[in-house]
Amino acid sequence: MGESKPRLMIATRNRHKTGEIRAMVGGRFEVLDANDLPGLPSVEETGTTFLENARLKAVAISKAFDGLVLSDDSGLEVDALGGEPGVGSSSYGGEEGNHARNNERLMREMSGRPQRAARFRCVMVLAREGRMIESFSGSVEGRILESPRGEGGFGYDPLFAPDGHDESFAELGDEVKNSMSHRGRALAKVLAWLEKR
Ligand code: IMP
Repeated sequence: MGESKPRLMIATRNRHKTGEIRAMVGGRFEVLDANDLPGLPSVEETGTTFLENARLKAVAISKAFDGLVLSDDSGLEVDALGGEPGVGSSSYGGEEGNHARNNERLMREMSGRPQRAARFRCVMVLAREGRMIESFSGSVEGRILESPRGEGGFGYDPLFAPDGHDESFAELGDEVKNSMSHRGRALAKVLAWLEKR
């Protein structure tokens, strides 16, 4: 009989985020997310930084779930747009979680701009029993493409090419993306930290 894996609750309803995290740590944890906890209140992201929002989500869910909780607050920062969309990444196009509209607005704002540098950022917070334990961050530098390319990933992936690649994250596929993404880098720090405990 194999030993059962410890459970890790991801404080999100975004199945894409959960899927990426599961692909990276599913061998070591049984990865759940807020969709597995019916009746949970949704957490309002009222913070002005990735850290504040990551903390709000992790702490709130850890009051409703008995075990280790990990949140992910992430977004895209574009230099030519003064760091926008930033913490407002998920509703940049006017409607929360509408990736098509977010990408349309990003293309519009970037049209004719020669400076294309951008980065994805991710802040993760571990929490248990209503308390934040630790925070971790990761980022990946790249540039905004003129038009969307590729079918993989989610969000702004079709418009973002990481440094060192001509292809977008949506073209590179999950394995390559996870090996260098903001989320993959933050998660590697989480795992290293947990290992030491
Ligand atoms: P959050 O759920 O409030 O953290 O918002 C995250 C938003 O940032 C998503 O809805 C996407 O718009 C964007 N984002 C975060 N990570 C990624 C990624 O890996 N690829 C593409 N877009 C991302």
